[in-house]
Amino acid sequence: MTKYVYLFKEGSAQMRDLLGGKGANLCEMTRLNMPVPPGFVISTEACAYFTEKGRYPPGLDDEVGGALAVVEKEMGARFGDEHDPLLLSCRSGARRSMPGMMETVLNVGLCSRTIPGIIEKTHNERFVYDAYRRLIMMYSDVVMEKSEGIETEEGKGIRDRLEQIMAAMKKRHNYRSDTELTAEDLRELCTQFKKKVKEQLGREFPDDPKEQLWGAIGAVSKSWNGKRAVSYRRIEHIPDEWGTATNVQSMVFGNMGETSATGVAFTRNPATGENKFYGEWLPNAQGEDVVAGIRTPNPLNEETKNPQNKHLPSLQSKWPALYRELDGIRVALEEHYTDMQDIEFTIQEGKLYMLQCRNGKRTGTAALNMAMDMLDERLIDEKTAVLRVEPGHLDELLHPIVNPDAEKKARAFLTGLPAGPGGAVGKIVFTSADAVDWTARGEKVILVREETNPEDVEGMRAAAGILTARGGMTSHAALVARGWGKCCIVGAGEAVVDLDARQLIVGSLKLREGDVITLNGTRGVVYQGALAMMDASENPRFQRFMKMVDKFRTLGVRTNADTESDARVARDLGAEGIGLFRTEHMFYGKGSDEPLFLLRKMILSNTPEERRAAVKELYPFVKRDIKATLGAMEGLPVTVRLLDPPLHEFVPQGKDKQQELAKALGIRPSDVRKRGEALHESNPMMGHRGVRLGITYPEITEMQVRAILEASAELIKAGKKTKPEIMVPVTCDVGELDATKVVVDRVHREVREKTGVDVPYLYGTMIEIPRACLLADKMAKSAQFFSFGTNDLTQMTFGFSRDDAGTFLPYYVKGGLLPADPFQTIDQAGVGQLITMSVERGRATRKDLKIGICGEQGGDPASVEFCYKAGLNYVSCSPFRVPVARLAAAHASLKRKASEGKGA
Ligand code: PEP
Ligand code: MG
Repeated sequence: MTKYVYLFKEGSAQMRDLLGGKGANLCEMTRLNMPVPPGFVISTEACAYFTEKGRYPPGLDDEVGGALAVVEKEMGARFGDEHDPLLLSCRSGARRSMPGMMETVLNVGLCSRTIPGIIEKTHNERFVYDAYRRLIMMYSDVVMEKSEGIETEEGKGIRDRLEQIMAAMKKRHNYRSDTELTAEDLRELCTQFKKKVKEQLGREFPDDPKEQLWGAIGAVSKSWNGKRAVSYRRIEHIPDEWGTATNVQSMVFGNMGETSATGVAFTRNPATGENKFYGEWLPNAQGEDVVAGIRTPNPLNEETKNPQNKHLPSLQSKWPALYRELDGIRVALEEHYTDMQDIEFTIQEGKLYMLQCRNGKRTGTAALNMAMDMLDERLIDEKTAVLRVEPGHLDELLHPIVNPDAEKKARAFLTGLPAGPGGAVGKIVFTSADAVDWTARGEKVILVREETNPEDVEGMRAAAGILTARGGMTSHAALVARGWGKCCIVGAGEAVVDLDARQLIVGSLKLREGDVITLNGTRGVVYQGALAMMDASENPRFQRFMKMVDKFRTLGVRTNADTESDARVARDLGAEGIGLFRTEHMFYGKGSDEPLFLLRKMILSNTPEERRAAVKELYPFVKRDIKATLGAMEGLPVTVRLLDPPLHEFVPQGKDKQQELAKALGIRPSDVRKRGEALHESNPMMGHRGVRLGITYPEITEMQVRAILEASAELIKAGKKTKPEIMVPVTCDVGELDATKVVVDRVHREVREKTGVDVPYLYGTMIEIPRACLLADKMAKSAQFFSFGTNDLTQMTFGFSRDDAGTFLPYYVKGGLLPADPFQTIDQAGVGQLITMSVERGRATRKDLKIGICGEQGGDPASVEFCYKAGLNYVSCSPFRVPVARLAAAHASLKRKASEGKGA
């Protein structure tokens, strides 16, 4: 028969899946002989059973009874006893911590039969009625209302009603704090509370301890499917079938008078990582008072006092012996768990009890500092240190971020897709030109646009942050912003951007030009006003840490970069080459006026002669840019992708630009417009793009290949090593590759004849159309390398437009139809199959086929792990994601080693 109930002394930290994190650690601390109040855990399996069948497994009742009898014996008190009653707490605890998402009930067992006994035992009537009013408040809210699925309007739930009664009583007596309520007041309050419960919920407050206990256990199990818990699981990708454990534990009281207290602490500072015992406590209080923020908690010790609490006595100064005992436990726990612990403790009449320990959550800075400190302290080895820092933590280290404390207190008015990480504060501007002008006069601005186009690039570069109402994670704005490490939120669908009135409208809120807003680009959240930012200035230990990371990594990490300066940034951040140089990006941004003009000329050419002339004029610019980037990446491979321009985006919209172009082409401005209109496509993403452009206009391919090879020849002649790789985009058939190769071979021959240099190069293709995946064995006959363009591959596999998915995709993710946005993290179930299949088929034809990925997912940790497992040679991502990808790649190798170790 399955065992569902475990006494604390029967379990251990290893049993986390079965007993939940909290339960497993209570067991572990019990085994370590730490002062843990006795109790037992009802397993996650019991919760899963309950969730599935709507009742507990048969026999659970007896098991709980048996465990309770042991606890009663250890405590020398009986649950429900008239003279010496034991009181219990019921707390949730899943495998992975879901802080605040599920329910807790304290003081279970207080009723008319047990109250006199406790008063007699404690000689403290006030304390007993205070505990009782807390039980009524919590129990009626959690068990009688929430777990029964009763929904109320905001401010009208039973808990709010009881709070109102208590506030009224305080007002009547002119009390400022809860602690002024007398025993009499509290007794009276309990009577009023019970009356209100009956009135509002139509049921008596249960006066039987057993009924209270099972009510509380049931509510904890049900809270697994509470609204908050379900949404949290979606965000954190926690499976629904895990279930929560229920921890039933003897109550100890921090509110038994002036020699009692309760507190929470971290064995090291969770914000900075500093190796100092850090925490807060409150005398004469129960745990919820510390977290609720009603009273300012006292500092734990002298050295960590802050301006808010420096006038309050520390635990260290008030009770030195207890502080020493707690500090001893801190050291023992860190040695045992070899990680920073987050602990909860209670002092009951001068005796210390441990109520919880778990690995503490931490900021990116803290994670790095602690990992390096613990390595130096020889608490952990290098591998563990590398695993201690999450790839997402590095994001924080590389971008300024919104101060999390400030964020907790603020309310967001708008959400969108988190396109570029970090935080930004600035004044709203609505045009690219204003962004440039305002920034030039020293203002910090947020560029707010309906959506962005290439003409916005200057403004995007100048702005501190970018916010758009439309577009997805791979929209132009998102791509460019991430490339620059710029804070950016796209697809904020509720925003209306009224360019004429210069207003950003969200519901009834109207913000004007110059109003200040704050973006959290890591979460996709927008706030009014200026929130405090945190300086994420680079820790000198970062470099040392990253060196260590590379020791454990086999997967290569390249970057997507299109300019010399981005290439240098990426190289400094550890990129081992360029996996994607998008030629068309030279037509955006600074210094692009002339090449953009020529590109437009080329696009709008009507005859081969016109086009050839335009291409010829464009050539020196293309060569110049490619050469600069090849130079910056000297010695490392650079994959230059042939032009894949969204043609319609490059057609000039402004009248003056149209006129200028008309003059150059010797036609009328109205003809420019007409030719532009002729380029209009119904489905540009499936239109005249990528290799198709080279098939129809081989002279464009020829010009680019010549630029790549001549630039390389010049560098080689100057004694520089270059490794160009020519990549053909948007292919679906080997015929396209063969046709393009004919042009490449011819130009290569011509360049050799002209320069005398036989430029070594690789020829390959992007894989971004499902047909190319299916025919990967054929594609590999011509291609020496593949690079998965997972932006387009995701678009084409799902049939979700990458530019328009923002209107519906969030519903899929929120509603749990998809586990995540496939444009952010590879859809392993679908797109993943195509990738693995292409790898197999491609390598079956060409054993040494080099394979990488250059879609946006290349910098996403879960996707990096997938690419490692799929046998790719490298991932390529935007410069600022390079360290993240390096760390994710190291984690992937280390995790595989660990699982192989387990299997052996
Ligand atoms: C892709 O499709 O994944 C890709 C990298 O190309 P682009 O985003 O330029 O279409
Ligand atoms: Mg593509």
